[in-house]
Amino acid sequence: MSITDFHVHSRLDPGPCEAPEEMIRLAKKCGIDRICLLGDVLYFGDDPSEEQVRSINDQTLELVEKRPDVFLGFCFLNPKLPENFLRAEAERCLGHQSFKGIKLEIAVNAADPGVDKVMRIAGDMDAIVVQHSWNTEIINNRRRQSDPEDVALLARRFPRVRIVMAHITAASQRGVLAIAPCENVWADVSGAQPVAGTVEYAVEKLGSERILFGSDAPGRDFSAQLGKIYGAQIPERVREMIFKDNAQKLLESS
Ligand SMILES: [Zn+2]
Repeated sequence: MSITDFHVHSRLDPGPCEAPEEMIRLAKKCGIDRICLLGDVLYFGDDPSEEQVRSINDQTLELVEKRPDVFLGFCFLNPKLPENFLRAEAERCLGHQSFKGIKLEIAVNAADPGVDKVMRIAGDMDAIVVQHSWNTEIINNRRRQSDPEDVALLARRFPRVRIVMAHITAASQRGVLAIAPCENVWADVSGAQPVAGTVEYAVEKLGSERILFGSDAPGRDFSAQLGKIYGAQIPERVREMIFKDNAQKLLESS
């Protein structure tokens, strides 16, 4: 099996299992041979400065250049920073052929109008936007955290920008229903522990083409996250699509 992991973080200060070569070894042991690197996005906290954003992206650039056979890069941005900085930083990263998109975390809620400037940049550069989402019924901080409903609002404002909503398992069925009508939103299954029925429900409501495998390693274990897909009651062909084909199609078009 050849698997693409759409959601992996590098570490600026890696522990023994988090060093890039060790992560690649562990991933390959599980059949993962393509990894989207989103950067160490929380290393400097929720609201990083220009300099901090640059150093997170410097590491992603370095790793992508070192192992272009495995890594693809995403440029991390903080929407609270000025538009001229954001555009210059996006151009610096996305000028590299192994960079495919932009990663947004928890500086602001996805529905905040401040995110619009990042979406305009993504639209201009034909970049995929990976937007963190969780479940504010469990995390009481909607000012910074995004629910799937917030991602849906963003997607409706920018229907031509392709958005990958991270962590569909966090809000589970509610999250699936929120993004179902938005054809420009894909869901990655990374993060949280496997919950029976979530992937099946996503396939039923989103169709088999808008779901991507992601682990959120090294914060999560490759094998436990793979279990979500191997353990799901779905046709073998759909499993292959989630593991590889859907990601390949999306990445090739940017
Ligand atoms: Zn993550």
